[in-house]
Parts: sequence; structure tokens; C-alpha cells
Amino acid sequence: MEKYVFMFSETKEGNTEKAQFVLGNKGAQLSEMTTLGLPVPSGFTITTGACREYYTAGKKWPNGLEEQVKKKLAELEKKMEKQLGKGGNPLFVSVRSGSYVSMPGMMDTVLNLGMNDESVVAFAKKTNERAAWDSYRRFINMFGDVVMEISHSKFEEVLDRVKKEKGVKLDTELNAADLKKVVDGYKKLVQKEKGKSFPQDAWQQLRMSIDAVFGSWNSARAVAYRRINKLRDDAGTAVNVQAMVFGNMGDESGTGVSFTRNPATGKKEHYGEFLQNAQGEDVVAGIRTPRPVDELKKVSPKVYADLLKIYEKLEKHYRDLQDFEFTYEDGKLYMLQTRAGKRTGKAAVKIAVDMVKEGLISREEAVMRVDPKQLDQLLHKQIDPAEKKKAALLGKGIDASPGAAVGKVVFTAEEAKEMVEKNPNEKLILVRNETSPEDIEGMNAAAGILTARGGSTSHASVVARGMGKPCVAGCSDLSINEKAGTFTARGNTVKEGDVITIDGSTGEVFFGEMKLIEPEMSGDFGTLMQWADSVRRLGVRTNADTPNDAKIARNFGAEGIGLCRTEHMFFEEKRIMAVREMILAADEKGRRRALEKILPFQRDDFIGIFEAMTGLPVTIRLLDPPLHEFLPTGDKEISALAVDMKISEEMLRSKIESMKEINPMLGFRGVRLGIVYPEINETQVRAIFEAAIEVNKGGKNAVPEIMIPVVGKMEEMKIMKELIDRIGKQVMEEKKAKVAYKTGVMMELPRACLTADEIAEHAEFFSFGTNDLTQTTYGYSRDDAGKFIPAYIEKGLMKDDPFQVLDRVGVGELIRISVEKGRKVRKDLKIGICGEHGGEPSSVEFCHSEGLNYVSCSPFRVPIARLAAARAALKEKSAGKKGKAAAIKKK
Ligand code: PEP
Ligand code: MG
Repeated sequence: MEKYVFMFSETKEGNTEKAQFVLGNKGAQLSEMTTLGLPVPSGFTITTGACREYYTAGKKWPNGLEEQVKKKLAELEKKMEKQLGKGGNPLFVSVRSGSYVSMPGMMDTVLNLGMNDESVVAFAKKTNERAAWDSYRRFINMFGDVVMEISHSKFEEVLDRVKKEKGVKLDTELNAADLKKVVDGYKKLVQKEKGKSFPQDAWQQLRMSIDAVFGSWNSARAVAYRRINKLRDDAGTAVNVQAMVFGNMGDESGTGVSFTRNPATGKKEHYGEFLQNAQGEDVVAGIRTPRPVDELKKVSPKVYADLLKIYEKLEKHYRDLQDFEFTYEDGKLYMLQTRAGKRTGKAAVKIAVDMVKEGLISREEAVMRVDPKQLDQLLHKQIDPAEKKKAALLGKGIDASPGAAVGKVVFTAEEAKEMVEKNPNEKLILVRNETSPEDIEGMNAAAGILTARGGSTSHASVVARGMGKPCVAGCSDLSINEKAGTFTARGNTVKEGDVITIDGSTGEVFFGEMKLIEPEMSGDFGTLMQWADSVRRLGVRTNADTPNDAKIARNFGAEGIGLCRTEHMFFEEKRIMAVREMILAADEKGRRRALEKILPFQRDDFIGIFEAMTGLPVTIRLLDPPLHEFLPTGDKEISALAVDMKISEEMLRSKIESMKEINPMLGFRGVRLGIVYPEINETQVRAIFEAAIEVNKGGKNAVPEIMIPVVGKMEEMKIMKELIDRIGKQVMEEKKAKVAYKTGVMMELPRACLTADEIAEHAEFFSFGTNDLTQTTYGYSRDDAGKFIPAYIEKGLMKDDPFQVLDRVGVGELIRISVEKGRKVRKDLKIGICGEHGGEPSSVEFCHSEGLNYVSCSPFRVPIARLAAARAALKEKSAGKKGKAAAIKKK
């Protein structure tokens, strides 16, 4: 029979991936901490396998599970010398979920299980009356809410009634007799809501709680969390049953959450909070405002001293930032949980670099410690300091998650979600008293989060950091009236829809829209990037169309331009007229006349870009989009153009009409334009050579690579190569100068991939335009796919949007074929990628493993691609494989 239940002390596997999959992240941690000799209350774990079986069997316990749980419970009782919910010294347990990846707050937890009319009396004798009745009423509330599905607010109503009767405001002002009344009220509530009494039998309580935890794996919020975080739906949750320790036993008891380093900044300090005389959930829920962990020194010096030892032990053993929960009961400290702490991008980089300096980890480990996606946060915007001086400060809270965000105020998560669904460009700040796991989708939709209550470890803070969203938490200046759709802060009233700016790096909240500035990278970030560069094989270039973008990208470490889209230059106000004239010209002569006007503009564009990228390759793509994209659409513009071109408006309109295409993405675009109107490409090529010669004359070094888009046939490339060589030769002879250049092809059509060997005869490089290649492989219009891809993901047909994450199976296969066929013909064929996938970590990894020479992406994704490329190389190394193209040089 399969073994479903393990004591924490029974499994010696440690916290490996395998153990996590079986025992859940929390179970594996508890078992490892127990092995380490940390003070962990005893308990056992029911495996994720049991949960999977539970679902397979139609929500029934698999054979043998009941027996096994009973056996382990008996072991636990023996060890603790107590009986669950019985006897003079009753045992109480917590029942907690825990999947292979931690999903904070998404699944169910029950504390104080074993409390009943009998055990509460015994417990009161052992400890004190108030603590016992407080624990009992908490248990009924939690069990009633989580297991019996009675709304928490109904329990709150009972509690409020008792407080009102007594004329007090705080829970702590209720004495044992009052709490007995609360218990009585709660029991009546259960009877009324469910038509049966609150279960007194501890085994029944345990069984029902285990069921509830299994069930919470498929709660709406857990499913949503998995979808957002791309986690497996079939993994199931483990259930951890653990002897309770009580933080609410008086002033020598308490509970807290702490990090071994600051998870927002990465600084080495005790970053955490505790609450005296409280239970764990009070800290996370943000109901009472906790105190900084170092203040524990004053309150309970012995506990504090023990805690310091734990910080050291944890860091030494785990060699990573730990986020741990502790409780102390009557002066004795217990560890409830530890896990690798979620951290901001800034903290991830600092901690990785610091830990190398401290000798805890190697440089390679440091590179593997930072998720490339997290670097995005480092590149987060900040408020322009000049603006801050004149801004209206609404309040100041906790700097929970860095970066600044501007957006319209919205008070509910549902509204935020709906508004962003309607308009994906909507920028919102979700303003709440505090957030809860139900708000997860709204938080994901918002640009930033602002809460009036809670601390740096409350739900809003933890989740925002994980999402990399700016967050200001616990801003007590705020008084929110959700119903009225307003909040007041320092005498100002802000309405729903008003724009505010939050600064998650300082905790400040401002009225109105403030200018945000881009961050600069240096210090630890630079160090980590250097380490990444020293191990990566893949080159990283940028997609840039202007000298400014080229400069930004070079500062971010780009090693050249992988795609310069020339058409973007055509839209500039001064030249669009000439471009339109060229398109609408009646014949070649007319086109050439207009192209004469365009030539100097193009030459200047290229000069700027070559200068910014001096010494590095610049891949310039010749004109790609269908020509009608450049034509005017508005009446005013059409009239103006007709006047300018000295033709009637009617004639112009009919010409524009005649150029419209049914399916422009598959129409008269790319190389087809160059084949039909070679003079367009001739002019562009001339501009490139003239610019390169001029830049070289000025002492800089232009390295042009000319690229032909949307090629499907070898013959197209052959004609274009001849054109480029002919014009290049002409210009070089005219100017009496030489330019080293390359001619290549953009691989965007399946036919090109399948005939890559023929094409490689005429191309010195390939660059995969995976935006179009995905479009043409799937047959999904890249402009309309948004209408159905979300539904495909939702229904599980695909994990990711293939326009964001490269489809390794289909598009990837075409890439593999091209690489193989191309290199067979031309050994030194340089191969890159310049679609959006070039800056997406998993796609970068694929490019590495297929032996591409470089990836190219937008400037701000260059650091992400550098890190992703390094991690791909390290992963390959640790897997002991050589990789297909380990011998290929970087560029
Ligand atoms: C591509 O198709 O992948 C590409 C980079 O070109 P564009 O997006 O300009 O079509
Ligand atoms: Mg394309």
C-alpha cells in the first residue's frame, strides 16, 4: 500500500525538489528543520499524492489513508504525552495546506484543532482561563469559516455584539467570561446556519479539516493564483498536522514573522515583526499593527537571544534569504516554518552579490539566484525628484515594494480587474484598507497597490513584492469610504477615478500624476551582470530604431543591434510627405524623385545609429510593411496631401482605396516590395553605405549588416543580395572607400525554414523574426490572436501565449530545421533571433540550447536576456551536457 503519511522526523530526504513534490514545500521544510535540530513542534505530513488520489476517487479518501493518519496521530500523541482534545493535558493541532510551491494565503488553514467543551476546561486549568476560551472561540470561528463555510463576517457580528454589550472596543478587553459568551454565540450561529451542532469529537474535526484542505486546492483563488503564476494544476496539496504552540498565552508569549535579510532592499538586518500575546494569523492578516522584531529584546530577552541564533543557523544552512514564522509560548521559542523569502529584484541582486562576498555561495550560484524576470523591477521607474518638491503629499506609509506607479484610484479588486479587461492600457492604483487573497486578480491588474492598514509582512506587501508591483502599505493617513468611493488623507478628499502617484520605494503617496524617470544601473547590478557575462555563450543585441534607443541599450550591455526597423523612421513628420509621394507616384521616375528626398534623411538616421553603436554590428532591415500603412486615413490629412501632390482629392482617395489589401500581413510586404520596386531598396542600401563611409571617415567604425524581411524563396534572396552588392560597390567606388558588410535574411516564413539550405547559399546570416514566424506557423493573426489566446490558456490548450513565449514544439522545430540545414551549407552562418521572444527568459534558453549566436530584444530587456543566457549556460553545465553548439563562438 502506498505510504501517504510521514512524521516530520521520519523523512531524511531534506528539502529537495522531489521531497517538495511529495510533502509539499512546507512539509519538506518542516522535515528538514526537524532534522537540523531546530525547535519545531512535532507533527506529520499527508502527501500530495493522497490529495491527488482524493480527487481521482471523486473527493474520497484513498484506501489506507484513514488508518495511516490514525497511526501517526497516535505516534504524535505518544511523543507529546497528550491526547488530541482529551484528558487533563489535551493536545491541539494545526492543520495546514502546502503545495510543491508555496502559495501564500491561497489555501486553507485551521488552528487550535481539538478544542471542545471538555478540552477547553482542561486547557484552562493548565494555562489560564482567558487564553483557553480565546483559543476555543478562534477555533470555532476558523473551523466554521474554512470547514463549514459559514461567512467570517457572521462570527464578527457575534463578537461585536459581545463587545458592544460590554462597552469595549478591542478583543483584548474581553475577559474569560465574555469569551465564554462569544463561544456560546458562535455555537448557536453554527447550529442556526448548518442545522447541526459544532462537532465536539476531535477526530471528526481533524477529518473534516483535512477534507477542507484537500478541497481548497481547487478554490477559485487557488486556481487563479496558479494561473497567474503558471503553476501545475495537477500537483495537489499536502496537509501538515502539527502540535499547536500558543502565542496567546500572556505577555511571555507571542508570534512573529521575520526575514533573515531585508526582502525589499536586501540589507543584512533582522527584518520582521512580532505581536505579543497573539496567534500567527494576526500578523499576516494585518489586523493589529505589529512591532519591529528587534523590540522583542526588551520584551523577552531570552527569546530574542534564541531567535538570533536561529537567524545564523538558518542562513548558514540554507545559504539564502529565509522567511520564517515563529511563536513563543511561555518564553520558549518554536519555529513554525521557513522558506526562501520572496524578495524584490533589488534585494535579489544585493543578496546574491553579498552572499558571494560573505563566502556563502559561488558566483555561478549567485547568477542562478536571480530570476531574470525580477530584473524588470530594477528597471522600474521612479518619481522625478524635482517633481516631488512641488507635489501634494497625501500621506506616508510603509515602503512595501519598490518602484513608482501612477494611476486612477479604484477601491475594489473586481473593478480593477474589469477595467483592465476592458482597456488593457488602463493604469490603476488599487486602494484598500487591507488586501486579502481574494483580491489577487485585481492586484495583478493594478499598476500599484496602496493600503491603509497592515505591515511589511501583511498580505498586500508580500504579494506586491512577488508580483514586482509598487506598493505602499499601512498608510494610516488614509481613511477609506469604499461605499462613497472616496478616501480622505491629511485633509484632502480623493475620489474614485482621481489620479494619484505612489512611491513604493519611500512609502509616499501623492495627489495627481507625477513625472516618472528611468532608473540607472550600477553597483551590485553591474557586478552580477559581469558574472553573468563571463559564463554566457549567447550574444545579446538590441532592437533599436533610433540613436537614443541604441545608446540606452548599449548602456544596458547590448553587443550590437539585431534589428533596426527602417520603416519607423518614415513616420517622422518632416519626411512622411516624401514617403507618401513615393508610394503614390504614378511610375518609377516619380518614385525615384521622391526617394531622392528620402535618401538624406535615411543617411542621417543611419549615421546616428552607427555612431552610437560604433564597433558593434548593426542589422538594418530593409522596408517591411505594406505601403498603404504609410498613407493618410483622416479627411484632413487626405485633403492636405492632395494639395501638396497637386492632384484632386478624388484621385488620391481612389489611389488609396486601390492599395488596400484584404490580408496585408500576408500581402504586398517585405521583400516583395523590393522585388517589384527595387528602387526603394536601392535607395535604402545607398543610404546605409554612404552613412557607413561617413562614420568611418569620422574615426568611428560602422559595421552594417543588411537584412531582407519576409523571404520565402531562395530566388528572392539571390536577387536582393545582387542588388545590395551592386549598390554597395557603386557607392564604395564613388566614395573611394571600403565598408565591410554582411547580407542576411529574416526567417519569418515556414517555407524559408524548410528551404534554409537553399537560402543559406545567398545569406551570411539568419535572424528569426519569431513574431511573424509564430503568426505564419500557427496561422494566427498576430493582431487578432488576443481575442482567443486567453481562452486557449484558460482551457489548458496552451500554457503560454506563443507570441510571448516561443512555441518550442512547432516554431521551435522550424528553427531547428533552419539551423541544421543552414549550417550544413554555410558552416559559419551567423544565426540570431529578433522577434519579441529574444528578451523572454525561457525563449532565450531555447535559443541557447539550439546553438544560436545571439538574441536581440528591446533595450530594457537586454539585462534580462544577458542573465537568462548565463543561466541557460549554467543549467546546461550542471546537467553535464555539452549542448549542440558549445563550440560556436559568441558572436
Ligand atoms: C518579427 O516578425 O519577428 C519581427 C521582428 O519583425 P516585425 O515584428 O517588425 O514584423
Ligand atoms: Mg516580421
